[in-house]
Amino acid sequence: MRFPLSLTANLTKYLAAKTIRGEKKFPLVMMLEPLHACNLTCTGCGRIREYKPTINELLTVEQCIAALEDCGAPIVSICGGEPLIYPEIGRLVKEILARKKNIYLCTNGMFIRKRLHEFTPTSRFFFNVHLDGLEKTHDLCVERDGVFREAIAGIKAAKAAGFLVCSNTTVYKETDVEEIAELFAYLRTLGVDGNMLSPAYSYASVQTKDIFMSRQDVNEKFRRASKLLEQFNVITSPIYMEFLRGERELMCTAWGNPTYNPRGWKGPCYLMTDEHHKTFGDLINNTPWEKYGYGRDPRCENCMVQSGYEASAVLGGNSKFGDTWKMLQWQVSGRMGGRRGAKTSNGAGNGNGHSNGFNSKPMSLPLDQSSHNNEAFRIL
Ligand code: SF4
Repeated sequence: MRFPLSLTANLTKYLAAKTIRGEKKFPLVMMLEPLHACNLTCTGCGRIREYKPTINELLTVEQCIAALEDCGAPIVSICGGEPLIYPEIGRLVKEILARKKNIYLCTNGMFIRKRLHEFTPTSRFFFNVHLDGLEKTHDLCVERDGVFREAIAGIKAAKAAGFLVCSNTTVYKETDVEEIAELFAYLRTLGVDGNMLSPAYSYASVQTKDIFMSRQDVNEKFRRASKLLEQFNVITSPIYMEFLRGERELMCTAWGNPTYNPRGWKGPCYLMTDEHHKTFGDLINNTPWEKYGYGRDPRCENCMVQSGYEASAVLGGNSKFGDTWKMLQWQVSGRMGGRRGAKTSNGAGNGNGHSNGFNSKPMSLPLDQSSHNNEAFRIL
């Protein structure tokens, strides 16, 4: 299985109920940002730049739960900022799980070891660790040495304690897909349960523009990536992958991944901000959805991100005969849990944390050498 059965069952039940009620626009994954502060200043991150004026604001656990109940999504992606510096992250996760939701906690991995004791392993909870390459590349992307090693130490601790862990990789123009294959092979030896992949989006607030790809660049990059990565438990759906390779069109379904943060419901999507809404209903009913997406808004021109289009695959936008069968086959053909102790493609790697991947040649990303953001440590 590619995902835990509890997630598939939850999602199937939810989709069936929505279909019976004839609802057209509903959320699949709530992007919950309890804070925007972070301990890192990653080159491609729009959040710490866009929300700089309110970087110290936090949602309360009660506000998070009220928003979750307002939208009713079956899956919650807790992101930010860095959620593991949110003071009440343990209680927040407990409250969400008590409502029978599935959680992906998106983290840079720096504080997994420190806060692991606040969580209990369950098939409805994943640590989703952001890794953009092997050690040198990743540390360049996040603008700090030692981040890769600490994230790996966190992954090992989480796996040893019985947690589900997946990785999340953003693909930039200079991303070397061979290196990503090497990274996934190494993570497999640690027992990592799946690997997410998404092309980067060019945020208006990110000044370093030449790291982002055009649609054509994305198509080429993912054609190559698909071949190299099919051996791994990639948890990016086959329909979304076809879209990334340029083999089919999908319509943006940004309402499928609504974002809630200290300013409210972010509209229209996870990436662009035209307005913050007080309620989920206001976001859904008062956003001119027909004005967004490829060919409608210049800001959407090169956007192919997961938060805009992965839900399109599940919600059946531009669906084709055989899609349901394809999705089902994909779920049952996956394999969680990696292969602990297996060797990487270069023959090294045994789960002890020092595969020869650590010595790989880094990419030369153009970096914005801004100073590190220390606001996060004040909150912690
Ligand atoms: S295409 Fe991308 S940027 Fe445009 S609305 Fe959809 S998710 Fe947002």
